[in-house]
Amino acid sequence: MDLILLGAPGAGKGTQGALLAERLGIPKTATGDMLRDAVRQGTPLGREAKRYMDAGELVPDEVILGMVRERLSQPDAAAGAIFDGYPRNAAQAESLGRMLAELGRSIDAVVSIDVAEEAIVQRMTGRRTDPETGRVYHVVHNPAPAEVQGRLVQRDDDREETVRHRLEVYRTTTEPLVAYYRASGVPLHTVDGDRPIEQVQGEILELLGNDASARP
Ligand code: ADP
Ligand code: ADP
Repeated sequence: MDLILLGAPGAGKGTQGALLAERLGIPKTATGDMLRDAVRQGTPLGREAKRYMDAGELVPDEVILGMVRERLSQPDAAAGAIFDGYPRNAAQAESLGRMLAELGRSIDAVVSIDVAEEAIVQRMTGRRTDPETGRVYHVVHNPAPAEVQGRLVQRDDDREETVRHRLEVYRTTTEPLVAYYRASGVPLHTVDGDRPIEQVQGEILELLGNDASARP
């Protein structure tokens, strides 16, 4: 199954994607995580990407396309992937469609997670990541276990000014993909992400289950 998680920065795509990956046995493919790995490793790609990320701008499409192509060629992604934070504009959506078609696949469903803007800023400024496992926590809503507290890090781009700019980029460039996928006839579900993590997860699983039972 190939599934896209759409939603503003901080909507909960990474959190829901990680839970779905565990339950469905399909890898989560998060372009933001791949870029942050490249930044940490100091690769030329990472150095180029960092400038855009720190400014809250999108990294150029060709960089992203190369990374996703490489990821999809790995054996664990042969039966599908959960795309988190990708595609982010129409050109990326088109190239993903072509890449999947070359593999004889297509997008099975799109889940758009909706969260009010005020909640988003609060979520992102409280977001913390465990660099060893990649797990994402929140200082209030989803606290990390005591044993990992000491090593949690905050993302450089989760400062309030950058968050506001990223939200603007989302509204102008990424949100139109909801209409794009609706027009393309792919099953598209909108879920209210302003609820506890497990509730949102339950609804997504139910919607995907309904899709599966609707398939001939
Ligand atoms: P969030 O989970 O908060 O939405 P991401 O981790 O997906 O953030 O992305 C962080 C940053 O990485 C983005 O602001 C952007 O600079 C870059 N990025 C991630 N994915 C993409 C993509 N598909 N296209 C362009 N830039 C991307
Ligand atoms: P995204 O990948 O869309 O940017 P994340 O999954 O990283 O979003 O979530 C952003 C922050 O909000 C994290 O700190 C996460 O722990 C927290 N969070 C995620 N889902 C919820 C939820 N349903 N309720 C409250 N906080 C949440």
